[in-house]
Parts: sequence; C-alpha cells; structure tokens
Amino acid sequence: MCTGMPTTYAADLARLRAGTTTHEALVETFLGRIEAENERLNALLSVCAEDARAQARALDALQAAGSLNLDTMPLAGMVVAVKDNLSSEGHALTCGSRMLADFRALYTATAVQRLVEAGAIVIGKANCDEFAMGSSNETSYFGPARNPHDPERVPGGSSGGSAAAVAAGFCHAALGSDTGGSIRQPAAFCGVVGLKPTYGRVSRFGLVAFASSFDCVGPLAHTVEELAWMLEAMAGADANDMTSAYEPVPPYAVDLNKGVGGLRIGLPREYFADGLDPVVRDRVEDEAARLEALGAILVDVSLPTTDLGIATYYVLTTAEASSNLARFDGVRYGHRAALAPGASLDDQYLASRTEGFGAEVKRRILLGTYVLSAGYYDAYYEQAQRVRTLIRRDFEAVFEQCDVLLTPATPTAPFRLGSNVDDPLAMYLSDVYTVSANLAGVPGLVLPTRHRLPEDHEAAGLPVGVQLLGRWFDEATLLRVGRALEG
Ligand code: GLN
Repeated sequence: MCTGMPTTYAADLARLRAGTTTHEALVETFLGRIEAENERLNALLSVCAEDARAQARALDALQAAGSLNLDTMPLAGMVVAVKDNLSSEGHALTCGSRMLADFRALYTATAVQRLVEAGAIVIGKANCDEFAMGSSNETSYFGPARNPHDPERVPGGSSGGSAAAVAAGFCHAALGSDTGGSIRQPAAFCGVVGLKPTYGRVSRFGLVAFASSFDCVGPLAHTVEELAWMLEAMAGADANDMTSAYEPVPPYAVDLNKGVGGLRIGLPREYFADGLDPVVRDRVEDEAARLEALGAILVDVSLPTTDLGIATYYVLTTAEASSNLARFDGVRYGHRAALAPGASLDDQYLASRTEGFGAEVKRRILLGTYVLSAGYYDAYYEQAQRVRTLIRRDFEAVFEQCDVLLTPATPTAPFRLGSNVDDPLAMYLSDVYTVSANLAGVPGLVLPTRHRLPEDHEAAGLPVGVQLLGRWFDEATLLRVGRALEG
C-alpha cells in the first residue's frame, strides 16, 4: 500500500490563498514523497526537482510582491507530472523507449506550455508503455510502473505512470495521452479521474505521434473540478497543430454543479455483455442507479458496431504508427547502433531500429506496414476506414436518443504484472470499452465508482472505473455528470 497521502489541488490552493503554505513548501512535500516511493512504484522516469523549485520560488516571490492573483491565475501552484511522450523543453523525452533513452525535448508541447502559463509546476516525466503502445505499462523499456493500491498489479497503460503518480500523491495532477484508452484505463485501474477530450480539442503539438488521427492529450487528477480547470487552460486552437479545433472553449467549471435532472443517460447494451466481470458490472450499474435517483433518465441504447472496434483500431493505428515511427532510424532521430566501419546505410537503419525498439512496437510496425502494402491495402486499411465511418455514425445516432453514455471503463479489475504479457490479444481486449471513442473522436471521462472491489473478489480493495462518453465538443456535460457522481 502507498504511504503518500494524496492532497487535492483545491485543498492546497485554499492553503496557498490563506497563506498557510507556500508554493515551495508544496513542491518539497511532493519531492519528499517521490523520494520515498518512486523507486518502488517507478511512476516517474525523471524528476525535474530544480526547475520545479525555481518555478515555485518565482510564484512565491510574485505572491509576496502582491502581483500573483490566485483568483485569476487558474492553476497557480498545481504540481503536475507529464507523460514522457509529451515535450517539455530541455527535459528527457524517452517515450518509454530505448530509442529515445538519451533524447531531450527541443521545445515544449502546447498543452504543457498552457498549463505552465496558468501557473502549474512540472515536477517530472511519467513512465508509459513504449511509444504509448500498451495497456499495462509493461512495454516500457524502463520497467513497468506499479499500481499504488497493489504494487503486484499493473497501473494500466499506456499512461500508467501518470495515473500511478496522481494516485501515489507524487503530484496534484498529470497529463497523459489517449489513442485507444490510455488515459481512461489507467485512471480506472488507479482510482483517479481522467479525461480524453474530443479529438482536436487540445493541441497535439509536442506530443510524439503514435496514431495521429486518434491521439488526444488530456488530464488526470483527483477531482472532476480539477479536470475542468486543466481542460479550460489547455483547450483551444493552436497554429502549430492543423487538427486543433477552433470551437470556442467554455468555462468548464462554471456549470459543474448544475446536476443531472432531466439528462438522458444511455446504457449501450453491447458494453454490458460477455467478458465483463460481474462485479465490475454491478458497480457500474450502481452508478447508473445513482444518476437515476438524482433525476436523470436512463435509456437502453445500442451501438451495434462495438464488436468491430478492436479490429478496426488495430488496423488503423498500426498503419499510422508504421508511418509515424519511420523517423526513428538512428540518423534523423533516435538510438544509433554502433557498427563496424564500412557498414551500409541499410545495415545502420536495420541495426538501430532492431536495438532501439521493443517487441510490441516492432509487432505494430510490421502489422501496420502489412495492412498498407499493395494487395492488402484495400482489404484491410481501406475497409477499416469504412468501418470507422460506421462506428462514428453509430455514435451520431445514439446521441439523438441520449445526452451521455454510461459504460464500464474496463472489462476487468487491474490485473497482475506479467499475467497478460504473452498474450497480445488478451492485452488488446482490455481496451474493448475505450477504443470506440477514439475511432469516433468523442470525449470520454473515467472516474472511480463509489465502492471498491469486495473482500471475496480476487482483486479485493482495488478501484473500479465507470466511463461517461459524450457528444463531440461537449466535455461540459460529461464533467457535470461526473461531478454529480462524485458528490
Ligand atoms: N492500449 C491501447 C494500445 O495499446 C491504447 C494505447 C493508447 O491509448 N495510447 O494501443
């Protein structure tokens, strides 16, 4: 069990306002917990202690001079960990890979930059599956992060280090990326809240690309209100990302407490079918019943393409990954193998990529190259694109019948380290409830259910997540429903 006492940002902000703590003291508290626990949990791959201290002192100096308004600087003193596939200038950017083990970021990701401009302090870079490919953090070259609630179990992935860092009290909040569930599944496994925004809602500039038409940057924290603050700071168009959206950014926190009276909550029957742990199912149904008691209307709905999600996701994302990862060749970017003089350029590429990438990344590059190759393109890639359109249409249709969908976040409890590593398909199936949101581009929020797993469950005492999915760019309603469930 974790000994760190997680503190919420809201609680620490109140103390900052009252003058009973300082930014520097907050940073020292987090650094102390990291020092005591990170070796065991492996949640952070690098700690930016000196930069964090300097930033904290600068905020304290501003406050002493009367020029820091804690009411208008929305995230002043929020201490955050950043997934190690998001750039923060001058800091390590490993992507959990040997390929980038020595790489340092040359610029700062827009999402990180906007948090820092709002007063947040980056404390470290969080462990993750290699190039964000995985569901357990076990594909990280630097070893897995562990679940703070039970270190023999996985924290989920690929943003496992981000979720574990929040749950262990190494930071107030964290940034992750979600291509097929990588913010939501670890949030569920670690008992924290996590939001995958609508595709395009938050700039991807500075995020190392895995599958560019799926990747989303989003926050993990302890409370829905913190997610709302972070999203508001990060969201909105960015000239550096052509796919970032020009939709206006609402003040997400304002309507959080409006309640759920009259909202239609859809329960998609395909998400409550075979393969779902019955206790997880009970917990999720209990949350639906709570919403009904709060005045929401439960609607039985169907997303018939649900069972095509995993296959479609693994055709399209591997295709995009095989192209995105071509740049890591030991010449333009990444690990360069030491070869004898006279080796050819091809030898150099081959040896560098063979040494630099781990097995899961290689599997996906091969799969992606295959589905894009002449003769197979029509049968796999093009066909998967058509199915992606059908999946999107399913969501369009269902959001005519309801305002928000409520589903399990994962089919099982957090599993034991090592239990799925030899079975890629079993690992891929842990994303069965999350990938469709990325295929359609809709936002998804995961939060812990009210009750943890019972004594007679093989994962007794561990958290269970519930997922809310919403209309494109309607994060506000998701957050509002999430807030009601927290209440
Ligand atoms: N677990 C999924 C995968 O391995 C999702 C990863 C992600 O969202 N980055 O592809």
